[in-house]
Parts: sequence; C-alpha cells; structure tokens
Amino acid sequence: MRLFDHFPQDKAVCPICGTNDDKPCFLMPIDETGDDRICEAQPTHAECLRDHADQFRLNRDAGIVYVLVANQLREEKNADPDQKEE
Ligand SMILES: [Zn+2]
Repeated sequence: MRLFDHFPQDKAVCPICGTNDDKPCFLMPIDETGDDRICEAQPTHAECLRDHADQFRLNRDAGIVYVLVANQLREEKNADPDQKEE
C-alpha cells in the first residue's frame, strides 16, 4: 500500500469519515470499477482505519471485512444529480 502525505484537495472525501482533511492517505480500490490492471480508487485517511475501527463489520457469508461509510458520502451518491443545493 502506497501512503501519500497529503489528501487531495479536490471533491474527494474519505469514505470513512466523510472529510478531506489534509492527513496521510492511501487509495482504496472501488469494487466493480475496473479490469485486472486498473480501477477507480477513493483517497482514504490511513488513521481512519484505526480511529473508526468500531464501524468495521465482518460478513462471514461473503468472506469480507467492510466498514460503514460516512453519511455524507451515501447522501451524495443518492442525491438527484439535477437538483442543486440551496
Ligand atoms: Zn477519514
């Protein structure tokens, strides 16, 4: 895992805490976004893996460990793209 010293200051937010605070981060691959060589990735704070450990869950049937993401990210994904904030 490559660790970056600074979090990108574009629209990306950490999927765990929902902020783009300028702290060390890594690129978390996003499921179903690529082929065998390359895929999309989300900048994620390294310290959020430790600090938000209480949000991690184990799915025994699927054989995966996952983390519940910040409300902000879920709301953005579900937002109507034609509707502007006021
Ligand atoms: Zn974070």
